[in-house]
Amino acid sequence: MKIGIISDIHSNSEAINCVLKNIEKVDEFICLGDIVGYGTEPNYCIKKVKDINCRCIGGNHDFAVVGKLDINYFNYTARAAILWTSLQLKKENLNFLKNLEKRIELKDNVIAVHGSPQNPLLEYILDKDTASLIFSKFNFKICFVGHSHLAGCFSFNENNNQIDYINFSNGGYIEISKNKRYIINCGSVGQPRDGNPQASYGIYDLKYNAVNIYRVSYPFNLTQGKIINAGLPRSLADRLSYGR
Ligand code: ZN
Repeated sequence: MKIGIISDIHSNSEAINCVLKNIEKVDEFICLGDIVGYGTEPNYCIKKVKDINCRCIGGNHDFAVVGKLDINYFNYTARAAILWTSLQLKKENLNFLKNLEKRIELKDNVIAVHGSPQNPLLEYILDKDTASLIFSKFNFKICFVGHSHLAGCFSFNENNNQIDYINFSNGGYIEISKNKRYIINCGSVGQPRDGNPQASYGIYDLKYNAVNIYRVSYPFNLTQGKIINAGLPRSLADRLSYGR
């Protein structure tokens, strides 16, 4: 059994198409939120996740677009894209976003959220202190997260209480070991921020108890052209070149 893990597509049709073309055969897909926001193809990206029967969690952008999260949590550029997106979405897709869950249980003790288990929509797990707090408060074996757009993995060793971080900005591999617990971010499909502009995704292989993170190039110049033509803030286009 293999699960394809995608997150933070952010209305980027070029990136999601390249990921779905590149990815090996999986048994199911999950999306960890932020299907929309920033980019110009929200309807297309929602159709895509529906087409692949993807189980989806709602992210902060998804819920802000449908009025379930206060837009004041966002900076100016994000707000501009959220307002723009809310005007573009078909009614059926607004309803789709409205009904997204905040947490998915993949199997016993393996969960998926957008931000963090204690604040699914808004918390970023960016450092070992935050990760440590979450490992102590929650009892998952693996927690898959998105939200930060940084591919990487925090692990907690139950024998010596040590927390480690591995950066997966160039892809990588984690073998799940008996005495460790994990917070894994498979990176962002549509707006990577870890310095690598390539789209990021993961595969959770339950048979081998391992997670692979992959990076794939996509024609971001097309995405940038659409963002500029739509009149969205220029920085949303520029950052795709750098993966920042
Ligand atoms: Zn996001």
